[in-house]
Amino acid sequence: MTVPLRRSRPYIFWGQTESLCETCLALVPAKIQILGNEVWYEKRCREHGVQATLVSTDAAYWRRCKEFIKPGDRPLALQSRTHFGCPFDCGLCPDHEQHSCLALIEITDHCNLSCPVCFAGSSPERSSFLPLATVERMLDTLVESEGEPDLVQISGGEPTLHPEFFAILDAVRARPIRHVMINTNGVRIAQEPDFAARLAENRRGLEIYLQFDSLTRDALVELRGADLRRIRAQALETLERHGISTTLVVTVKRGVNDDEVAAIVDHALGWRCVRGVNFQPVQDAGRNENFAKDTDRVTLSEIRRKVVDGGVFGEHDMIPLPCNPESISIGYGLRNGRTVLPVTAMIPQEQLLAVMPNTISPEKYPVLRDRFIELFSLSSGPLNTGERVAELLCCLPSFEVPEGLSYENVFRVTVVQFLDRFNFCVGNVKRSCIHFVTPQGQIVPFDTYNLFYRDGRIDGIRARMEREIAP
Ligand code: SF4
Repeated sequence: MTVPLRRSRPYIFWGQTESLCETCLALVPAKIQILGNEVWYEKRCREHGVQATLVSTDAAYWRRCKEFIKPGDRPLALQSRTHFGCPFDCGLCPDHEQHSCLALIEITDHCNLSCPVCFAGSSPERSSFLPLATVERMLDTLVESEGEPDLVQISGGEPTLHPEFFAILDAVRARPIRHVMINTNGVRIAQEPDFAARLAENRRGLEIYLQFDSLTRDALVELRGADLRRIRAQALETLERHGISTTLVVTVKRGVNDDEVAAIVDHALGWRCVRGVNFQPVQDAGRNENFAKDTDRVTLSEIRRKVVDGGVFGEHDMIPLPCNPESISIGYGLRNGRTVLPVTAMIPQEQLLAVMPNTISPEKYPVLRDRFIELFSLSSGPLNTGERVAELLCCLPSFEVPEGLSYENVFRVTVVQFLDRFNFCVGNVKRSCIHFVTPQGQIVPFDTYNLFYRDGRIDGIRARMEREIAP
């Protein structure tokens, strides 16, 4: 008689988390499985069955993310209490594990474009503009929560269309907020010289977060509904002329613009005003026309690989951001024209993981010091560490750089993967450090806001849960 042999499972069962049913958005258990070099969630919804979601194509990097996790920073104030359980208590509730590295304030839902991909669902037909007093209250909520917030992003809709846009900028400036970004499609900057000039008067501590998805017509039409190549070029020329710091922001959709990652990084280096590129896989939220899970999703690991293949940042330069390692990968460098010296790989990991920001001085790290001298053709005498480049955003340590260099010499590439109904993970969302401040005085993670809170879906969920727990 033959004895049947036990067979191994075809994957490593790494653990379990809670995710969302991609059909009904119910919170469901998800097995984390490693198959070869891929990481998958296998979810099970009682109503809609088993669903599989690819979360990484680079299991080695995905595992390495765990080594970067650092203790989170607690906000100074909380806006909700723990009652229903995550993700239904936002926020921020006492269960949240990170403060707001970046806080978005949406000042309008009006826009001069109707992009097929828009997490906010904005359009020319929508026309609400938050009153200045409301925006001020939202800023005060953030200051109460953060003390000195690192970064506020004024967003929309198209925020530059707000009739009180510059008064809102003044309101940010009147508070102890370190940096402000404007999340814009660039149309006004490109087309209205007076507006751009006024923006330039405010350029200190300000950065333009410029929608810049592609260098090709077809991809722009697919993502933005219009061939915006000319607008993008005009906006960049204006920003360059005025010396306004700019980050290019790329929404990435598989088969549309994912093959342009290296080209966009290269393009960015052609502009002195550009401090870096931020790549974001499409989050399936808001308006997301014709999005198909199996053909259109792209993962952080795939974009990171294309950045590395592009050659500006190497395998060890694109590191997991310690605040939220699985969702954000980042590479920092110092640039001299088109030449970039990546520095993230040179920073000892224990520095990155330190709870308090540290100052990384070239004096302390001889290799870094020698490369500085080489790249910037400095004399080899003692380096006077001068102006701090940094506050390099998002909880990374500050860098000191040799005198004569400044924020203009910083270049960073970031890949940010927001969570949606496919890749949601309750553990990762608790580490979210990118948050919306709402007019109601709540601070809500980007991911949960777009899934449950923006459209009020949360009210029905909470009412149902209250009924279920009522005696
Ligand atoms: S995402 Fe954060 S704020 Fe929201 S319920 Fe979960 S722990 Fe609380």
